[in-house]
Amino acid sequence: TKVTTYANEPFTNFALEENKKAMEAAIAKVKTELGREYPLYIGAEKVVTEAKITSINPGNVDEVIGYVSKADQVLAEKAMGVALETFESWKKVPARERAEYLFRAAKLMRERKHEFSALMILESGKNYVEADVDTAEAIDFMEFYAREMIRLSEISETQPLTKIAGEDNNISYIPLGVGVIIPPWNFPLAICVGMTTAAVVSGNTVLLKPASTTPVIAHKFVALMQEVGLPAGVINFIPGSGAEVGDYLTTHPKTRFISFTGSKEVGLRINKLAADTVPGQIWIKRVVAEMGGKDGIVVDETADLEAAAAAIVASAFGFQGQKCSAGSRAIIVESVYDQVADKVVALTKQLQVGLPEDNFAAGPVIDKNSYNKILEYIEIGKQEGTLLVGGNKADGNGYYIQPTVFGDVSGKARIMQEEIFGPVLALAKAKDWQEAIAMYNDTEFGLTGSYFSTDEERIAEALETVHCGNLYINRKCTGALVGVHPFGGFNMSGTDSKAGGYDYLLLFTQAKMTSRKI
Ligand code: GLU
Repeated sequence: TKVTTYANEPFTNFALEENKKAMEAAIAKVKTELGREYPLYIGAEKVVTEAKITSINPGNVDEVIGYVSKADQVLAEKAMGVALETFESWKKVPARERAEYLFRAAKLMRERKHEFSALMILESGKNYVEADVDTAEAIDFMEFYAREMIRLSEISETQPLTKIAGEDNNISYIPLGVGVIIPPWNFPLAICVGMTTAAVVSGNTVLLKPASTTPVIAHKFVALMQEVGLPAGVINFIPGSGAEVGDYLTTHPKTRFISFTGSKEVGLRINKLAADTVPGQIWIKRVVAEMGGKDGIVVDETADLEAAAAAIVASAFGFQGQKCSAGSRAIIVESVYDQVADKVVALTKQLQVGLPEDNFAAGPVIDKNSYNKILEYIEIGKQEGTLLVGGNKADGNGYYIQPTVFGDVSGKARIMQEEIFGPVLALAKAKDWQEAIAMYNDTEFGLTGSYFSTDEERIAEALETVHCGNLYINRKCTGALVGVHPFGGFNMSGTDSKAGGYDYLLLFTQAKMTSRKI
């Protein structure tokens, strides 16, 4: 392939009847494929196990998406053996050739875009736009990381080391080894694809343990990589429980790195387990962890209040607030607080809750555990603030919760400090814009944030003082685009990695300097 300049995959406009029809057709097609069984892949071998993960539709819990085989420690050990062996050959495949697999997979995914999105609509409860954006991002990650690997492989020419007489000096980025990839369910395609292909295109082999609520879409991606001819054993597919397979591989002496996206609790546990060296281990494991957020939108009295309210609602309730970028807090300067709160409430009331395949604005949350946890937080919110809208479960044969807004919440309240990962928004009042920024900064997280203002001096100060990895001015705090908005946060939001950015592949490589006397 001739490598063109990277550009983001465009989103589909579902206001056009033909696009809506195409998605409906894709959903109908995927429906005919529900309830199948899916194996593990360990090298060239398909492994079917007795134990299964049953993936269900969170919006219609009687609908089974698929039955996915489940790895245990014995199978995880076998997969590790295969990955170690495959690494010896895969690391020698030229970067350009490795990138080619990603280009081919991106092309096929683009051709079958709605099919991938439709499966996510059914398996994860996304509406059309959310699913479409997820698939577009998956394509972007492959296109971007493929180019990044090519760039890195040419760095000795494009960014040569300082020359001295009598020596030829070079630097190259070589892979690390076998990595364990543990992606989340909330971007069940995009983040799974991004984390996996970044590691693989860098020359590593991986053990992919998909999220247990969304293993079928992960399987579809793995099948795509097989279709484009990725050598067996580069990606080993081993769904399984975190406690069993996850911990086993995290503490394994041959694991070279762990790439994780998920909750703070699990991220910290992985970091701790990975820090211990075990007999036979000859490296310090690298941990790349993208964890939670308590992201927020700050609005001052000079802001476009309509735009701010729309952004608050979009950031809080897109995919039911189940994004680590979700704006679950809004901190509003006192003098405009009531106006903004009224607009937020009015917009939230317009969000209709219903079945994802019917493309409702708000759908279900991912599973029973999440559902219960969110409902508990709603009860906590009733103690900590004034319920303005929502506040209850919603009708439907799934995990439906009303989009919920609490007003007059104090900065230290639990619903202002703890990640809920659901459709719950807290509004807080600040006396002025400086206090509002201070309240924004007063959490243990630091992933995304927005500042709404028309005052240039304040914006300049906000750009410096709002402490988060992805800071947006006068726009929503979700929807980072690959290559455009490298994504990842500070503090308890993770290891400061930036997915979709120019530093990302460095996390899966090590630099080797060679110096030759001439
Ligand atoms: N990158 C996504 C966004 O900007 C969020 C990713 C996540 O929730 O893990 O909205």
